[in-house]
Amino acid sequence: MAVLDGDTWVINGRKWFTSGADRAAYTTVMCKTETDVPAHDAFSMIIVPTNTPGYNILRDVRVMGHYGGHCEVSYENVRVPAKNLLGPRGAGFKIAQRRLGPGRIFHCMRWLGQAQRAFDLMCERANSRVAFGKTLGQHQQIQKFIFDSLAEIQASRLLTLHAAHKIDQGTEARVEIGIIKVVGAQMLHNVIDRAIQVFGAKGVTEDTPLERMYRHARFARIYDGPDEVHVTTTARRVLGSYKIGDGWDFGLR
Ligand SMILES: Cc1cc2nc3c(=O)[nH]c(=O)nc-3n(C[C@H](O)[C@H](O)[C@H](O)COP(=O)(O)OP(=O)(O)OC[C@H]3O[C@@H](n4cnc5c(N)ncnc54)[C@H](O)[C@@H]3O)c2cc1C
Repeated sequence: MAVLDGDTWVINGRKWFTSGADRAAYTTVMCKTETDVPAHDAFSMIIVPTNTPGYNILRDVRVMGHYGGHCEVSYENVRVPAKNLLGPRGAGFKIAQRRLGPGRIFHCMRWLGQAQRAFDLMCERANSRVAFGKTLGQHQQIQKFIFDSLAEIQASRLLTLHAAHKIDQGTEARVEIGIIKVVGAQMLHNVIDRAIQVFGAKGVTEDTPLERMYRHARFARIYDGPDEVHVTTTARRVLGSYKIGDGWDFGLR
């Protein structure tokens, strides 16, 4: 919550999972500034230098056994100039949406790179490790891992390129980004999981990068909105299009 005191914003609150707070010179705080308006018009973005008195990092939250700079931060009467407001008052959600759309497609591009690395490792291992008289890659179940991963990575890649194409055309590509956020994160999780399986015990050790990649893949299904929220909002948009008679022609989309 922030209130305007003369020409100064006074911010109070607490936020955990502020990633990178341990090394940031400033942070963008999204907080309630308006009352008696609909919720989506009640929040604003305010820039806060991290050396401002009252800005305190309480802890680096340990996630899946590791510290990753996902900090819990408290704001106790943090005072910053009124001009630190980003955009108009009450525009917090609109600004967030403008950043989150392109931000999500960047995540998808990183995930594709990670999936390629996991796939390379899995195939190299499948060709080199011999178990029960033949290489792992000669066992049908392992071939299925390779096939499923191949198909999922390529599908995600094409969906991501399609979303990027829509953005290039000047649209917000909300549906396309909703799809890749969910499909991309699940693909990453599945591919790394299979690669770990092919490595056996070694896959869960820090002797391969897969263990670390797997933890990050798990986060991907939660940060920037969990899968379920994207499924709901994306499906609602498509249903809305049918409601107004536009339908959803895949050939034109
Ligand atoms: C590694 C990591 C880094 C993060 N970094 C940041 C950061 O830098 N800045 C920041 O602001 N946040 C950050 N977050 C927070 C992240 O954006 C939230 O965790 C995420 O949006 C989910 O919110 P929540 O944790 O409050 O879960 P909740 O809202 O409590 O949801 C919990 C679960 O409930 C279900 N659910 C919720 N809503 C619905 C719905 N509408 N329909 C069906 N099911 C639903 C989902 O299964 C969801 O996973 C980070 C999170 C992680 C894991």
